[in-house]
Amino acid sequence: MHIARRKTKQIQVGSVKIGGDAPISIQSMTIPHTSDVKATLEQIHQLERAGCELVRVAVPNKESVAALPSIKSQMTVPLIADIHFDHRLALKAAAVVDCVRINPGNIGPWWKMMEVVKAVNDHGIPLRIGVNSGSLDRHVLEKYGYPTAEALAESALMTVRALEDADFTNMKVSLKASDVHMAVDAYWHFSNHSHYPLHLGITEAGTAQTGAVKSALGIGWLLMNGIGDTFRVSLAADPVEEVRVGYEILKSLELRRRGITVIACPTCGRVEIDVVRMANELEQRLSHIQVPLTVSVLGCVVNGIGEGKEADIGIAGGQGAGILFKKGKLVRKVPSEELVETLIQEVEEMAKEQQGQIKDSSCASFQTSDTSKRPQVGQVNGGHSPSRLNDIPVLPGIR
Ligand code: SF4
Repeated sequence: MHIARRKTKQIQVGSVKIGGDAPISIQSMTIPHTSDVKATLEQIHQLERAGCELVRVAVPNKESVAALPSIKSQMTVPLIADIHFDHRLALKAAAVVDCVRINPGNIGPWWKMMEVVKAVNDHGIPLRIGVNSGSLDRHVLEKYGYPTAEALAESALMTVRALEDADFTNMKVSLKASDVHMAVDAYWHFSNHSHYPLHLGITEAGTAQTGAVKSALGIGWLLMNGIGDTFRVSLAADPVEEVRVGYEILKSLELRRRGITVIACPTCGRVEIDVVRMANELEQRLSHIQVPLTVSVLGCVVNGIGEGKEADIGIAGGQGAGILFKKGKLVRKVPSEELVETLIQEVEEMAKEQQGQIKDSSCASFQTSDTSKRPQVGQVNGGHSPSRLNDIPVLPGIR
């Protein structure tokens, strides 16, 4: 499947490029109070180890602003300050962080936005305009009566145009709703009329499982249709889980590959090993590996090698002993109780070999975007704005 990404303006958040032909990046947000530097840093370091490429922290008060320099100096990925209501916090944060996220719907009169724009301009950092269904522009809300996808998109477009009138273009945009249909429609509408890079997300998506499904559907649909430059999977869970789900979405769409993908058979009456336990153990114990490798765990040898031939390496269970295979070819028999340890050892060796071959230092990621074939803004679907998802036609490059 070829995914033709829509062409967007490229901006720079610290060391990470967003938009244009930059890889779609994964972000997350910390949970401890930002004023608690130790706890916040601990989580940031966990996120960094999981492959998170941009970290956002909430900045709700002056204690949080005061903590930013210390946090920033002890982390490696770019830092984004998330600010609502009090624009003075943004003015101070702009001197420290790599990007400021602001919600124009709750920041007050326009002159406050202009002060924030001046601050980010002075420090050469971009702004994320975060429009949310819960805090839409008053005039737009009056026009539509209640939050709709069109209202979200119009609110964001109004802000973007007003910022352009003030000669400010160093921005990315998000349009968040917890309703998947509304969020997807809103991004679609906006993307038909603007070339600014988009931060995707389904807000308040839910718990680890519910939120992952909603995010995979909403974010996944948009990415498949070429929309989106960076995203956060919002989960009521450990933020490291957000990063894992994010990479699974990208890996499933073959937009990026990073780390181990464990594929496991669903098991059936032929199963000879504890596939579920083994697959979970492998995912956990191999999570530190960054090179892309597919590892297969199959319950029996009946269809084992055949079913696992897509994998780089794998095991299939048997009576008393299973088999180890690579690229669909039998390597050797292994006693059942040694299968997991043997596989882990082999995967570690393969990862080391592959690491040596990889020149790209960006954690073995790749992107299957063909920018030469990307439609220009406004060319996709002739700017048609469907009101329902099933009105949306198939885009160029999507089969
Ligand atoms: Fe069943 Fe074997 Fe296929 Fe697993 S690999 S689903 S155990 S036939």
